[in-house]
Amino acid sequence: MGRVRLPKESLVTDTAVQPRSAIAHEHTWNAESAFPTVADWEAEAAALPAEIAALAAHEGHLADGPAQVAAALEAIEQAVRRVTKLFAYALMEHNVDTTNEAGVKHFGAATGLYGQLLGTIGFLDPELLAIGRETLDGWVQSEPKLAVLGQYLDNLFRRQKHVRSAEVEQLLGMLADPFSGPRSTANFLTSTDLVFKPATSGAGDAIAMNQAAWDHLRTNPDREARRTGWESYMDAHLAYKNTLASNLGTSIKQNVFNARARGYESTLAGSLFESNVPVAVFHNLVDTFRKNVPTWHRYWAIRRKALGVEKLHPYDIWAPLSTNRPVVPYKQSVEWISAGLAPLGKEYTDTLRRGCLEERWVDIYPNLGKTEGAFSAGVPGTHPFILTSYTDDLLGLSVLAHELGHSLHSYLTWQNQPFLYSDYSLFVAEVASNFNQAMVRGYLLQHNTERDFQIALLEEAMTNFHRYFFIMPTLARFELETHQRVERGQGLTATDLNALMADLFSEGYGEAVHVDRDRVGITWATFGHLYADYYVYQYATGISGAHALAGRILGGVPGAAEDYLKFLRAGSSLYPLEALKLAGVDLTTPEPVEAAFRVLAGMVERMEGLFA
Ligand SMILES: [Zn+2]
Repeated sequence: MGRVRLPKESLVTDTAVQPRSAIAHEHTWNAESAFPTVADWEAEAAALPAEIAALAAHEGHLADGPAQVAAALEAIEQAVRRVTKLFAYALMEHNVDTTNEAGVKHFGAATGLYGQLLGTIGFLDPELLAIGRETLDGWVQSEPKLAVLGQYLDNLFRRQKHVRSAEVEQLLGMLADPFSGPRSTANFLTSTDLVFKPATSGAGDAIAMNQAAWDHLRTNPDREARRTGWESYMDAHLAYKNTLASNLGTSIKQNVFNARARGYESTLAGSLFESNVPVAVFHNLVDTFRKNVPTWHRYWAIRRKALGVEKLHPYDIWAPLSTNRPVVPYKQSVEWISAGLAPLGKEYTDTLRRGCLEERWVDIYPNLGKTEGAFSAGVPGTHPFILTSYTDDLLGLSVLAHELGHSLHSYLTWQNQPFLYSDYSLFVAEVASNFNQAMVRGYLLQHNTERDFQIALLEEAMTNFHRYFFIMPTLARFELETHQRVERGQGLTATDLNALMADLFSEGYGEAVHVDRDRVGITWATFGHLYADYYVYQYATGISGAHALAGRILGGVPGAAEDYLKFLRAGSSLYPLEALKLAGVDLTTPEPVEAAFRVLAGMVERMEGLFA
């Protein structure tokens, strides 16, 4: 059933200081459009436990006939709609000001109700599977209320061949909690227990270091501050390299165990099976990345030249190139984003403008206690809200364009799909968001030709590409190699992991970047993403699909914009790769990844011209 779109990224922005109470009402998310008053929310929260409990009456009765299945699905949908709406509200309320105690309380209550709901409706899929495909297909034909179920059942039965006996399933289910240990251990160690040596500014002042401090320090123009900050950050992880390696190794062994227990031929196949993505998509990404790595070498070389340093170091990768950054107020951002997306038609841009300027979809500015980063969240029945901490610059614009990509994707899906298919996977989500960034960048590069503006724009674009199209594919290669070693029965020591990571980065950095093999080698330990099996590659395929699709539209392929809108309207009514084929891109071929590299090469070329 449909789920709330949960925050799927955290794009770090500057921390702000003003209290929540200082933010103008018109700049806050439209809470009252979801629940007129907090008392209404609380009344709904009080009513829901009985509503959820009533669902249990359907348990054990689905096999009675198509009418019983239809009645159960309808009751479940109503409950899911109400609980997810309650949850979406609490998610926003809590994250716009984490110091607000009512928000903490509501978020806790909503999370509890959500868990209760999932527990209560757990009978649905096993009972449908027990009825059998043939009988259900007949019921779908005879009962009009079940006609919508086609894709849902296909996906359910597709996965059945990897479902074990009830007894084995129960045992595997019991492992979920103890198997979550490595991830939380890594999280506690790196976020709480690690002690960082202070960094030092060029003037000799000490700078306090922690996880978040490095994210800010790396864009500091002071090279000494960046160098000492980077060394402190990496050295803190190196000090626990054996613990962290053993911990990651355990997580990989658990993945191998799970894949084998369910009869997958590899961890990769098992992980991608979940979204019905063939392993060729992963291999295409990695192979095409390797083939195009000289484009990255060109970028390091031009960055070295622009910064005027003899050798580029990893801590120079985020160093600012622009000195005169354009100021971009929120309303200007909305204008430029609309202009960039004009090829999608007036309906798309009118909706976007209404959401940003009239209906208050966006909680715009930073305030004390607001969660850093940005996300899009909402459910059918609410606006597709956005939380961001807008800064008056091109980064603020880019983040807003990205989140609006998610929100318009949600909006169009909700308008066109039944509730059952109102959600979509990360695999397609990151196409819609990156698509908006690609279109808006393309527009601005063409229309704002002033040198400082171009440099600032390219700098923002390259920071984005670096994370999602350099770091993420490199981590994906690391994941593949480490999993394959465990699958072959080899061990993984800290020395092995660091050597592998250093080799992969050396290939990506080429001649222009100095590789301190210990400090670069420990990079794997700084990404908690690696505890979510084969997750990061989807960011790189997302950016690839996005640029391939933007390229079709900007290149004037007939019908390209309409194809893309069909994709946005599809939600989860199609498998991810099928939905993307509808838009005109086939990720089982190398072409979309090549297309993204062509865009990247074009940006590097512009930079070579600007810094000639
Ligand atoms: Zn996103």
